[in-house]
Amino acid sequence: MPSGVPRIPRREEWILKKICTRCGEEKPWAKFSPGSYWDDGSVRRVQSYCQDCHAEINRNRPKKPIAPERLAYLVDYKRQQRAALRAERTSDGKRLPSAPIRELLNRAVKDTEDWVLLG
Ligand SMILES: [Zn+2]
Repeated sequence: MPSGVPRIPRREEWILKKICTRCGEEKPWAKFSPGSYWDDGSVRRVQSYCQDCHAEINRNRPKKPIAPERLAYLVDYKRQQRAALRAERTSDGKRLPSAPIRELLNRAVKDTEDWVLLG
């Protein structure tokens, strides 16, 4: 069952070699996806194409077009996400009064005559 977590090949999988039937290169078993396992969890057989070849096949696989209703949903969702981000960044148009902080800073600068002390 794939979990999204990469499997860590066992030591012997780096020693055993196999020739990929697609690219013809000899690589360790660790560079092939397992085809089946023994009962103890060790790899019994690896697939005939190496992982690099499988990755290349998947990269070149034609993409399925997005259904129009799904696309409309995605556009709407992204618009909502952008609006939420914008609202968060701009405090939703609400602004705090700047007078108190300006007064505090002016007083601090007047007392110390040095901006460095504010840090
Ligand atoms: Zn290959």
